[in-house]
Amino acid sequence: MKSVWTALLIVMMGCGFAMAAPVKVMILDGQSGGAYHDWKLTTQIMKRQLEEAGLFEVTVVTAPPADGDFSNFRPDFAKYQVVVSNYDAPDWPVSLKNEFENYMRSGGGLVVVHGADNAFPDWPAFNEMIGVGGWRGRDAPAGPKWYYRNGKLDSDPGPGPAGMHGQRTPFRVTARAPAHPILRGLPPAWMHHTDELYTRLRGPGKNMTVLATAYADPANRGTGFDEPMLMALNFGKGRIFHTTLGHDATALSCVGFITTFQRGAEWAATGRVTQKVPKNFPTADSVSYRADLAAMAPQTASGVQPTSRIPAK
Ligand code: ZN
Repeated sequence: MKSVWTALLIVMMGCGFAMAAPVKVMILDGQSGGAYHDWKLTTQIMKRQLEEAGLFEVTVVTAPPADGDFSNFRPDFAKYQVVVSNYDAPDWPVSLKNEFENYMRSGGGLVVVHGADNAFPDWPAFNEMIGVGGWRGRDAPAGPKWYYRNGKLDSDPGPGPAGMHGQRTPFRVTARAPAHPILRGLPPAWMHHTDELYTRLRGPGKNMTVLATAYADPANRGTGFDEPMLMALNFGKGRIFHTTLGHDATALSCVGFITTFQRGAEWAATGRVTQKVPKNFPTADSVSYRADLAAMAPQTASGVQPTSRIPAK
């Protein structure tokens, strides 16, 4: 009998070791630049992805609409180790911006997904956190355009609007900082599932490591450069993972997206990555995606392809 209790105790202790305190994540949403970004749906997909990693405790915080009343919107950022932004608003009250800046300067974490880098064009600290952003009137004063040319990071301060993409298509993502914790163990290149390939992004590009790029084919309104897709940045003591990928459920269903998103969130929160690379990670030539996640979009589930009358961002 005693040995049974001893065994049980050992099992319980074992579980205790395996179940370290979860990383507290806030997914921030509530606004997008237009109907082309279904943030209610994409938040649910990203929440599921984080929960599947087994490391995170996820809370969704929904901000009032951009023209709404922000007087009672005071999220307690310090309760979370990382804020995942699925949020694209034009501006915030100064007090709220100050609170978020203080959170980041004192060691907060931030993950910026796709259209969230369209937000806050006139908030200098936010643009420093994301490194590069697009749309919402950004032009030369926002900072130069950043891209890889001849295998090296380059920039162009010349004028022109920030943010462009061609037709959605699968494309290859190439690692540029393979030793970074987020990319360690991943292949040097992989195919990303059908998505918008953001180009002509502008920003200060300060404290920014471009982790991965993708070639923007001029045949699909591209620049002919290798555009930044994944970035790691620092702001004060805070860490930021910025992925330009993830337009919709199809893009989010890519195993390459999921893996880099889960790892990027852990890195932004803790500075480390403990997650293994999944066996079904895409190769340099073929996409790998989760049909169950893609099917969370009503159009995909019913077999009807979404049509876009509004130019998507
Ligand atoms: Zn988009």
